[in-house]
Amino acid sequence: MPDLLKQRVEACYQTAERHFNCVFKRAEISFQLRGQKAGVAHISENRLRFNPVLYKENREHFLLHTVAHEVAHLVTYQLYGNRIRAHGAEWQAVMQTVYKLPAQRCHTYAVNRTAKTHYLYRCHCPEREPFALSAQRHARVNKGMHYLCKACRATLTYTNKNIKR
Ligand SMILES: [Zn+2]
Ligand SMILES: [Zn+2]
Repeated sequence: MPDLLKQRVEACYQTAERHFNCVFKRAEISFQLRGQKAGVAHISENRLRFNPVLYKENREHFLLHTVAHEVAHLVTYQLYGNRIRAHGAEWQAVMQTVYKLPAQRCHTYAVNRTAKTHYLYRCHCPEREPFALSAQRHARVNKGMHYLCKACRATLTYTNKNIKR
């Protein structure tokens, strides 16, 4: 598990301890979460699980927001027990007042890692959808290569638009 992640968890606990003037029992942390969730807090077991893939791809945001989000669940559970809703007023107050962060429920990290940028090109065919060229082909065009439309025989020209697919 990365040191930065452990340090950030600890920092979140310490910030909450200064604010509430009490001591929080530290969680057991695992770094083996798979799938679409960035992090999970198991409140009654006092465990945190983080997603290594989403961590690597979104490190700064992950450390700042995801870690605080999950630690805030454990902190509010230790303060209030399960009388409260997971993302209710108490949790929101920890996020906003203690951590000075927006109280966001869900992460917005891109989860589909196979998405690649394609570059849209046009020919002269009136009805045809633009051609989606790969980054590799786009780079070749920039070096002077020409691609032709098989129907109209026109050289494909870049449209200034990119898409992810
Ligand atoms: Zn949550
Ligand atoms: Zn054409």
